[in-house]
Amino acid sequence: MDNIGSFVNIQKHSLYFNGCGGCDGNCCNGAKGFAIAPLILEDFKEVYKNFKIVFGLNENQVGAYVVLNDGKSHCKYYKDSRCSIYEQRTPACKLYPISPYFESILVDTECPSINREFGEPICIGKQLNQKFYTDRLNNFNEKLLKTYEFYNSINDANYFEQIGDISGLPIFKYTKKSSNPYIQMHLESLKN
Ligand code: SF4
Ligand code: SF4
Repeated sequence: MDNIGSFVNIQKHSLYFNGCGGCDGNCCNGAKGFAIAPLILEDFKEVYKNFKIVFGLNENQVGAYVVLNDGKSHCKYYKDSRCSIYEQRTPACKLYPISPYFESILVDTECPSINREFGEPICIGKQLNQKFYTDRLNNFNEKLLKTYEFYNSINDANYFEQIGDISGLPIFKYTKKSSNPYIQMHLESLKN
């Protein structure tokens, strides 16, 4: 795995992170960064009280996403140029500009702080610099496979109702009666 869009493999590019000073929270702004972020199962409990969890159907494969903003402006928690829920920000926010993809660790070169000369090295000796590490990365490939097991167990378009779209991407609610804890957190989150 070399790259996905602006995300490049940390082992194949010598990159540095030079802090967030001077950036107007691009990664918190749907107009410049992301409106949604994919979830793994352990993320659900971290986000459902503060953010909506929705499903997307991409090429007949269901997946869950946290809605960070409306795709046009900043996250509602971005206040006075900072995150007002810093300790409770989403696991994806805690890692950004790093993002895992199966066994690869990627870095987003769209983050204006990523450069080839200044600041903290992203990768040291082919490993992610520990300063950027969070627990989400522990056994990430295994966690992702378990997440897909869950998605496959509910992967039937008849169970989903479209509730809107974000940046042109249709988003869905799960409608089949279920006591599954992840479905319960999804439904509870839609009250946000
Ligand atoms: S991580 Fe990057 S995009 Fe996000 S606020 Fe810092 S410099 Fe800006
Ligand atoms: S939770 Fe905080 S860090 Fe994450 S997008 Fe919102 S304001 Fe930015």
